[in-house]
Amino acid sequence: MYPGSFDPITNGHLDIIRRGCTLFDHITIGVLNNEQKSPLFTVAERIEMIQAVVAPLAETTRTTIEVDSFEGLLVDFAKRKRANCIVRGLRAVSDYEYELQMAQMNRHMQPDIETVFLMSADTYSFVSSRLVKEICFLGRSVQPFVPPIVEARLQAKFGRQPRS
Ligand code: ADP
Repeated sequence: MYPGSFDPITNGHLDIIRRGCTLFDHITIGVLNNEQKSPLFTVAERIEMIQAVVAPLAETTRTTIEVDSFEGLLVDFAKRKRANCIVRGLRAVSDYEYELQMAQMNRHMQPDIETVFLMSADTYSFVSSRLVKEICFLGRSVQPFVPPIVEARLQAKFGRQPRS
């Protein structure tokens, strides 16, 4: 289970998914339905972008990838999906404290589900969905940080013409 907001998916997320494929037979990407946090993209839009960018991966790996959304507790969703492992990416020390707390709380609630951390690739350690949205909103290209389809969707959201 790889859970997150994915608002939108970035190359950093994609790197974690790609590397997860070398470790797991099946990955469920769990998109958090967090409408109260006013996401830029709806859950349906986020799922559609993820499906588009992971489709080529499916051709190069034996791992099956499923994309689904959830509300409520992650461990309940993971259990419903029969996941035995939660994957999270760690970018910097600043991620660590929150992730440690979540992993410990989740283990307390669901001891049979283990949390596994993959260290961000150094190329993407500074990439976050929040910054990508801000940079695109302010008119700079986010091409190095997100797949082309995501950049196009961001530009459409912010009412811009795609760059040639
Ligand atoms: P959340 O709101 O749950 O943090 P995100 O979509 O921001 O959702 O992130 C989902 C997961 O992906 C988290 O474990 C996060 O640390 C990880 N992640 C986000 N960006 C990157 C990146 N650039 N490199 C590696 N992991 C990342």
